[in-house]
Amino acid sequence: MQRYTIVCKQDSTSQMISKQLRDAFDSLMTYDEMNPEMVISVGGDGTMLYSVHMYKHMLDSVAFVGLHTGTLGFLTDYQKEEIEQFINDVYHKDYTIYNRYLLNVTTNKETYLALNELRIENNMRSQVLDVYIDDEFLETFRGNGLCVCTSSGSTAYNKSLGGAVICGDNGLMQLSEIAGIHHNAYRSLGSSLILDKSHQIHFESQNFENSVLGIDHLVYDLKDVNCIDVKISNQCARFVQLKHVSMIERLKRAFL
Ligand code: NAD
Repeated sequence: MQRYTIVCKQDSTSQMISKQLRDAFDSLMTYDEMNPEMVISVGGDGTMLYSVHMYKHMLDSVAFVGLHTGTLGFLTDYQKEEIEQFINDVYHKDYTIYNRYLLNVTTNKETYLALNELRIENNMRSQVLDVYIDDEFLETFRGNGLCVCTSSGSTAYNKSLGGAVICGDNGLMQLSEIAGIHHNAYRSLGSSLILDKSHQIHFESQNFENSVLGIDHLVYDLKDVNCIDVKISNQCARFVQLKHVSMIERLKRAFL
């Protein structure tokens, strides 16, 4: 019998849907929070990010699926009105598994995995940092910060920065500026830079004071950090694709 668990947003609609799922699935699968094979995320994109981080120690053996209880989701396939179809599809095992690439982020202190993006953000003063691609110096950036997203994260914070939406999960990462300073004295690329998984980005700064490191929904301080390395991780997050919602359909529903 397959093992499953539910990660649920703490609002009444999500709680009610979670209960309906438990009623439907408990005779079919074993509920196991510690060692699930399928994690059902009930809520929004934020709940899915939380779910992936919660089970990041067992990415090889777990698969994620999302049921969205808000208005729309990018990391979730089903809307709350489609709960019957969702139950039916799980019941008939009518699904395939696909991978979403993750970022591997390493500082001189810690290693992190990101599904959407990493953000280096400084809202107090201009952050100065040197950017290297594969050990080759690219630029000295000055501004509020930088964001590196995955294909999955290209529709999230990256899009608000004017970055490109990437269709398909193809191991690409995208470096975008957060309010970069561009004038005769200081200059950086200005546009987003898309790199494939053969590349590595290295950030270096003498002073990350007042800067924070955002990893998806999480925020860390950069005390005693002087460099940050980013590449596409060897590990992926496995997602259950129960119902095919095309990327174009998602884009139209969300943005047009
Ligand atoms: P949150 O509740 O502030 O969510 C912000 C919005 O980002 C929500 O509408 C959510 O649905 C959307 N979102 C998250 N992942 C997405 C994705 N892959 N594609 C399209 N939209 C997506 O914050 P949270 O729930 O803790 O989620 C953290 C994420 O929110 C971060 O990874 C970041 O990408 C995103 N975010 C975006 C902005 C912005 O666009 N200005 C600001 C803050 C956070």
